[in-house]
Amino acid sequence: MKYLVLIGDGMADHPLEVLGGRTPLEAADAPALDALVARGMVGQYCPIPEGMPPGSDVGNLTLFGYNPRETFTGRAPIEAANQGIQLADDEVAFRCNLVTLTDGRMEDFTSGHISTEEAREIIAALNDTLAREFPVKFNTGVSYRHLAVIRGGDAAGTAGLVDAVCEPPHNITDQEYAPHLPQGGGADLLRTLMDRSREILAAHPVNAARLAGGKRPAVSIWLWGQGKAPVMDPFLEKFNRTGAVVSAVDLVKGIGVCAGLEVLNVPGATGWLDTDYAGKVAAALDALNRCDAAYIHVEAPDETAHQGRVDLKIQAIEDYSRFVVGPCLDYCDTHPDTRVFAAPDHFTLISTKTHAGGPVPFGMCGPGIPRDAATAYTEGTAAASGVHIAEGHRLLRSFLCDEAVVL
Ligand SMILES: [Zn+2]
Repeated sequence: MKYLVLIGDGMADHPLEVLGGRTPLEAADAPALDALVARGMVGQYCPIPEGMPPGSDVGNLTLFGYNPRETFTGRAPIEAANQGIQLADDEVAFRCNLVTLTDGRMEDFTSGHISTEEAREIIAALNDTLAREFPVKFNTGVSYRHLAVIRGGDAAGTAGLVDAVCEPPHNITDQEYAPHLPQGGGADLLRTLMDRSREILAAHPVNAARLAGGKRPAVSIWLWGQGKAPVMDPFLEKFNRTGAVVSAVDLVKGIGVCAGLEVLNVPGATGWLDTDYAGKVAAALDALNRCDAAYIHVEAPDETAHQGRVDLKIQAIEDYSRFVVGPCLDYCDTHPDTRVFAAPDHFTLISTKTHAGGPVPFGMCGPGIPRDAATAYTEGTAAASGVHIAEGHRLLRSFLCDEAVVL
């Protein structure tokens, strides 16, 4: 049997007045998603365990079949794993966004989706200055998403860094940022680094060029999502399946690295609407020639929702359906011994421009998967299905391991 897991990041949403009381999924023309359900079933599952933060980190661990309560230490250490960064015992990895702050507000947690090339110059400038003065090293990631590795020095220092309360910048779009600066034991160093970064970035030529070009500048770093290295059992040992991951974002690739999966690099994968869907699907289906399972993660539904752009979120859902789900169903036609699972990792709400917890819709089809009468993939059909899986990671285990999927 082959297994395809298709992740539409942040795709689930609430009904919107502007859509006449429908959700973006309900408003989208997504026939392939509906066909997936028609071939199998729809239901609700909880990607985020009760009381845990509704982040892509926690939600995607669930989708890889890991219990976030046992494996989650923070988002940044997962991304660090993807970058090949080995964290020492006294080191804590932080996500380091490049953000645009304007008039005391978080205007843009992406600095206008700054390019990796521009970001690389800025990160180099931070290493030339801050890394000489403080126990920190900055590592360039993709676009606005970077990492800072901070040495705690001793157990108390490390614990202070781990326990500091850091707000994800995508949660405070348009809000005053000062009340959301790091709090708690290790926060002083974090605030100092963020303050000092503003001085350095204000004078940086990349920002002068961006402003001249009418683009948003990288005004500051924003540190969050910290943690020490996670310990995860290899996917192969846990599920007796080999697997591969296709994603544009370090976080999801990092889960793949931590799980011992093959992480595929697709050059045109951007994490945005312009991503190379065909390239991603081709890489995943090719991986099924040598692996049992392939994951395809699509970031655009989440990013567009963070911008509050309902039109773009609907486009992202339609593109995901047409260019990812559709070709995977076509693959099932020629390879009938294949199961497909499609779901988001959490809600990303247009109304608040941020994530939310709660049960989201999943669809799945293939041999050994129960069939229901549903013919549409929406929040509503999932809620009406009567299928509600509280522990999401158990659903994925059953999908990957059980001859007949048990709900
Ligand atoms: Zn997500």
